[in-house]
Amino acid sequence: MTFLTVDIGKKVYPNGCCAIENLAFAAQPGEFVAIVGPSGSGKTTLLNLIAGLDRELDGSITFHSRQAGQSSPRTGFIFQEPRLMPWLSVQENLELVLAPQARAHPVTPLQDWLALVGLPGCSALFPGQLSGGMQRRVALLRAFIVEPDLLLMDEPFQSLDAPTANQIRILLQDLWQRTRPTVLFVTHSLREALSLADRILFLSAQPSRVILDIPVDLPHPRTIEDLSVQKLHASLLDQYPQLLAGQIAPSRERPRIVHPCMR
Ligand code: ADP
Repeated sequence: MTFLTVDIGKKVYPNGCCAIENLAFAAQPGEFVAIVGPSGSGKTTLLNLIAGLDRELDGSITFHSRQAGQSSPRTGFIFQEPRLMPWLSVQENLELVLAPQARAHPVTPLQDWLALVGLPGCSALFPGQLSGGMQRRVALLRAFIVEPDLLLMDEPFQSLDAPTANQIRILLQDLWQRTRPTVLFVTHSLREALSLADRILFLSAQPSRVILDIPVDLPHPRTIEDLSVQKLHASLLDQYPQLLAGQIAPSRERPRIVHPCMR
């Protein structure tokens, strides 16, 4: 059953800027979808609309809950910066997002979660005492411990050095496979998208719409250095040289590759 249906006719900001036009897709429960588009194409605008942070749109965004009576999904949002509270310890940052019941009687103790993400013994430290990579681990954990149905990620690893980003991407795949939220992961890096996602939606330049929708049928965990990822990267750019600029050649606009779940 479909989890999320997005059907946006138009998203126009009050200053007249039309960020999105005729953008539609559906996502399945547990699916990891990367959204790739050029800078300024409307990726953050799209995530904000799906998160409900912005409700001004011409169109609809619908969730089909697995649980009767639950109208909106449990949603996690991971931003470009970790956004931890600097005056709270790691433990307090994590407890902040937990309901009182889960805080008092956690199914998995926080210490176990911290060990799982490679931060054993760090619960009393403050964000200022952590490296950028360690802060990202805490931010990932904070998103996953609430067991979200939907996880929205907006270029979360772009300011990390390459080896640290690789380690965190592996951790993300591990956490995702354990809890299986639907993930929408925004990036402008095709390699990063290919290393993480089940499926990639490519957006046009502004106003954005989906120009290509492809499955990525490679086993997890992956890294951007994997030969299979590099081959797919090369063959996509060979087939669509202007893809990352948000264009596919007019002669190739049809037939669009459609993900099986959209048929
Ligand atoms: P991306 O995340 O792909 O870089 P954005 O969603 O941030 O793109 O922006 C898409 C377009 O919408 C850009 O032209 C941007 O200038 C415009 N935009 C974003 N936020 C606002 C806003 N609050 N008011 C007016 N225009 C905006």
